[in-house]
Amino acid sequence: MLIHIAKAFKKALFPTRCLVCGSFFHSIEHNICDVKPGPTDADRSNLVQEFIKKIVSTSARDIYYLDNIHNVFNKLMAHFLCPNCTSGFLPVESPKCSRCGMMFKSREGKDHICGECLDSPKRFQMARSAGIYKDTLMAVIHCFKYKGKIQLSRPLGTLLFAAFVSFWDKMNIDLIVPVPLHSKKLRMRGFNPSFLLVKDWVSIAKFLNVRLPDIPVNIDVLTRRRWTEPQTGLGRKERLANIKNAFNINNDSKIAGKRILLVDDVYTTGATVNECSKVLLKGGAGRVARANFC
Ligand SMILES: [Zn+2]
Ligand SMILES: [Zn+2]
Repeated sequence: MLIHIAKAFKKALFPTRCLVCGSFFHSIEHNICDVKPGPTDADRSNLVQEFIKKIVSTSARDIYYLDNIHNVFNKLMAHFLCPNCTSGFLPVESPKCSRCGMMFKSREGKDHICGECLDSPKRFQMARSAGIYKDTLMAVIHCFKYKGKIQLSRPLGTLLFAAFVSFWDKMNIDLIVPVPLHSKKLRMRGFNPSFLLVKDWVSIAKFLNVRLPDIPVNIDVLTRRRWTEPQTGLGRKERLANIKNAFNINNDSKIAGKRILLVDDVYTTGATVNECSKVLLKGGAGRVARANFC
């Protein structure tokens, strides 16, 4: 009882500051992403657990995903974002490109291959995102990547995990490979955001009581052998030239015949991931799919 009163006082006296807009708010949820949740946290994870359970069994996966992913995002971010910012999350909706996952401007019609993927066929089989890189998600990713708010890696990793089980048959992936950073950039930033998004999938699955086959995450097999300038602001040809031969494979035997899920934080141009896919396939990978945050 005393603990509850003390917790209530603490909440009233020390409201949470929203990571996106900076306003103070009273978080009514506990952070369900704690590594060692208490019974209350476990209770509160039911919504995410229920979502994962339903999404793998329903035949109307797309509809169920769109109807429920906002609630999942709200739960995951309740401890970090104010209700106003949380409501700004935008999931990817159909019609979208069935290859690269980009949403079409027109909201009419079915999924089909976009002009860009037809003009320059992609080496990866399919790319899917956890949300649109705009508004709330853009601000959250910014906090995570550039302001070092690595406490977001667990809720963001859970969101990407929810997207993963929604879009891929998890049994069809043998190996997860985060897009590597150049060693200089890794030293500057201190962490690889793509790796942080997937490194806890096994414990997230365990926490959510989801049976997940043992899919290893390998951060050494693909390396960035030369420094590249940021792709933003470059034209299509320049982007391709900038990234060409930037990656190599460390150990062919680790990827031989493997079905690889390549993980990146943001899908900006597609050139980077296409180059990674090319190198992985050349090194003997069976096929490459891609999950990215936005
Ligand atoms: Zn806010
Ligand atoms: Zn496309």
